[in-house]
Amino acid sequence: MKVAFRELHRLLNELDTLHETFSTYREDLNSAHPVGLLYLARSVVHDLAEAPLDVRTEILIHTDAARNYSVQNLAELFADGFEVPLISPAGTDRLVDGEMPIVLGVPAFDPYNAFLAPILAHEVAHLATDISLLALLEEQLGQVPSTALLSDEVDSRGVRSANARLWRWLEEILCDSLAAWATGPSWLFALAAFLPVPSSAADEHHPSANVRTAWAWRALKRWGWEDFMRAKFPEFVEFVSGIALEDAPDDDSPLNDRLWKSFDAVMKVVESSEAPRLDPTEYEATEKQHGLQVSFERSYMPPGLAADPPGAWTLLLAAWVACAENSGIEYVARTVANQPYNQFLIKSFELSGIARIWRTLP
Ligand SMILES: [Zn+2]
Repeated sequence: MKVAFRELHRLLNELDTLHETFSTYREDLNSAHPVGLLYLARSVVHDLAEAPLDVRTEILIHTDAARNYSVQNLAELFADGFEVPLISPAGTDRLVDGEMPIVLGVPAFDPYNAFLAPILAHEVAHLATDISLLALLEEQLGQVPSTALLSDEVDSRGVRSANARLWRWLEEILCDSLAAWATGPSWLFALAAFLPVPSSAADEHHPSANVRTAWAWRALKRWGWEDFMRAKFPEFVEFVSGIALEDAPDDDSPLNDRLWKSFDAVMKVVESSEAPRLDPTEYEATEKQHGLQVSFERSYMPPGLAADPPGAWTLLLAAWVACAENSGIEYVARTVANQPYNQFLIKSFELSGIARIWRTLP
């Protein structure tokens, strides 16, 4: 009997954990969200988690006032809490048996903010970096970070702490880069609106907003977006090109220096991942084919119902471009706050998503 009670007691703890998790998300099971927002969430998770990890997912949208844009892998949570193996049994290389359950946290105060979707892309990219891409980066760097990334003289607080910090920064910058790869210049605009330079200094987990913005611009140039950006947003390009990196506190300089030296390695990991890329040439061809600019500028008919409907990131970039009354830095803040445009964009996602499903029906 004693043994049975002990087992029951253990079960009670597990039930408490389960109850807490499910009660947190219970309301979300019955919440209705716009179809366009669901299509956007599906695109984010497909491009930044399903494609690079080769898994299928099930998505729950959680609107939460306290947690900002965030992602939670419930499989991982249960693996930690209940000692359920995250990796499927021998013979399969799948990460979970069945669909990976993912909770996307979207701020409750503005659950339909499509313009900031690239921030969500960064968050979802953490799933892929956690599970596989960070290990690839370590391989690319060719060294074990705790021993070789920084040399002894770099940090007065001790090499170990500097290395741990650098490694966390590398993970963040890798997620930034994946978001830029998948969403193109929309990432740079969303970042500029979400973390205006130079208000965000570096912390234990993130490089400064200056570094992240300059990094995004360098990545976009590498991936062929410079001509497009210079033609459409000359003032914005002037602004991002002139971001000062040297005003970081002294302590951060060696870390920033190491981060920039890892640029090529980070790019190679992103380029070799299976995450789909928003390609500038393809974007411009699709934009022209569907007349997206005209649709978004005049807002008379959401694009999307055409044959071969444009993907979410193509629509998002076209909307960002159409909102540019001028190309200065101040325009990104105005665009994000443009609620009618935001709703028009969500409607475009909806039509595009429906058209895609509709056209794949037999
Ligand atoms: Zn992050």
